Amino acid sequence: MTMQPPQASVVAYFSMEIGLDSSIPTYAGGLGILAGDSLRAASEIGIPMIGVTLLHRKGYFRQHLDSDGNQTESPVEWKPEEHLQKLSERCSVTIEGRQVWIGAWRYILPSPIADDVPVIFLDTALPENSEWDRTLTDYLYGGDKHYRFCQEVVLGLGGLAILSALGYANVTVCHMNEGHSALLTLGLLNREMERTGLPADDQRTLDVVRDRCVFTTHTPVPAAFDKFPTDLVRQVLGEEQTQKLMSIECLSDDTLNMTFLALFFSRYINGVSMRHEEISSSMFPSYPINSVSNGVHALTWTSEPFKRLYDRHVPQWRDDNLYLRYVVSVPLPEIHHAHLEAKEALLSEIKQRTGIILNPSVMTLGFARRMTPYKRADLLFYDLERLKKIASQAGPIQIIYAGKAHPQDEAGKVIIRKIYQAAKQLSGTIPVVFLEEYDLSLAKYVCSGVDLWMNTPQKPEEASGTSGMKAAFNGVPSLSVLDGWWIEGHFEGITGWSIGQPAEASTVKEADSLYDKLENIIVPIFYQHPSDFDTVRRSAIAINASYFNTRRMMLQYLEHAYMPAY
Ligand SMILES: *Cc1c(COP(=O)(O)O)cnc(C)c1O
Repeated sequence: MTMQPPQASVVAYFSMEIGLDSSIPTYAGGLGILAGDSLRAASEIGIPMIGVTLLHRKGYFRQHLDSDGNQTESPVEWKPEEHLQKLSERCSVTIEGRQVWIGAWRYILPSPIADDVPVIFLDTALPENSEWDRTLTDYLYGGDKHYRFCQEVVLGLGGLAILSALGYANVTVCHMNEGHSALLTLGLLNREMERTGLPADDQRTLDVVRDRCVFTTHTPVPAAFDKFPTDLVRQVLGEEQTQKLMSIECLSDDTLNMTFLALFFSRYINGVSMRHEEISSSMFPSYPINSVSNGVHALTWTSEPFKRLYDRHVPQWRDDNLYLRYVVSVPLPEIHHAHLEAKEALLSEIKQRTGIILNPSVMTLGFARRMTPYKRADLLFYDLERLKKIASQAGPIQIIYAGKAHPQDEAGKVIIRKIYQAAKQLSGTIPVVFLEEYDLSLAKYVCSGVDLWMNTPQKPEEASGTSGMKAAFNGVPSLSVLDGWWIEGHFEGITGWSIGQPAEASTVKEADSLYDKLENIIVPIFYQHPSDFDTVRRSAIAINASYFNTRRMMLQYLEHAYMPAY
């Protein structure tokens, strides 16, 4: 199989993870789902794009939880040939002086109106390579710094090289989804230096590279930036490339910071919510930072009963998600019944997976995302006695959890154990279910089937968050800390409810506010004024689903980030 690249300009979208389908385990969480949702929207709108990522033959990992909530992991075995087409084109990169060959696989997102959007998966498991080099595209976020840096050479430099090998001569924009692919800037710099014979630090050379690059940063936490020691960079890339990075001052404090490298070379930089733009601007005062708030892909995240409801009332929603605004006039009983159907689908999935039978008339709270400390999955269990009192006095509740902790994130694993402990202490009063193996297909059930979506991050660490948007597409309101997207999506009592005050971040006060809202407002509305609760569901759709979708988001990228290069 060979590619037939389009003649027109193309945007190349680079991401260490891309979530396309739950049977293709090449993503870990929100970043990868966003990448998949972005490319799906691009294909629908007809934006000429191509995605580039790694094949991850062993995936992220398969999660196993014992009865105390101890997580163990095993590799995911999947067969790329069952899901992707193998291409015959090859390219190579130099790693530690060795020539490492890279093959490519392709997945196609068909476009109804323009060129299809291909996604290219880079693969080093080729007979020409050494045994170790063959493993470079095995594990997503696995291994040590050395392994990771070599993977980033494959993604950034290899990704750029494969586009040439595939005949893509008109890549006018390289969009870096996070800093993992930032070495592509070095690849562009090398090319430009070869073409002009000018040195790396020549302004004209830098401008040509900068003109091509767009960078989306995804974390407001400096400790989460991808960084590598200079000695490692020298070992992997060699002296000449290292000197080049030094001459343009991209190696400081003896480290190569991938966020700084991407910032330095990008013509357009954005955060993923208004708040994230603000924080990023104060972290990087010498760069102009914009914001394009995240969204989710409507057709991927809307459950069947809501798809039918939207098709009946606003059939245009499929081609233009803005039409979801008109859901505001849909009769409440229809919203109620569509939700109940999604809830029953979730409860039957839970029964099938765990044998646990939950009651569809009980108010169901959901929390599912990567298990990592700043997300504070255990905030709901801050005071178990108070939670029990709410369930016995305001009305019964049941809680659904899901999420994986990175294999090396001990603190994340502790949180899963804490949830299991709390579940034991609550048994008999509040059923708590923790579902293993949170992925795209489970997320569809959980985000659409619960009654209330919980989001309790440590401010200001949630750059955006997206699962509350998936919930909104299904008429599920959020109860969330005012951080990330929720600052924009929150209208108190209309699209959901806030936890705590905007300006303060105190765990005690936030837990108190969380209980207070549940006890005095949310649970009473759910049981005593169900049609008021349905009104909140409906407004969450009309106000938030109509805006927090990847069609709006990609049109903004097109207008603000991509178009200037056309
Ligand atoms: C949407 C999604 C996430 C991200 O959720 P956040 O609320 O942004 O943390 C993570 N994992 C899966 C499987 C998802 O579908």
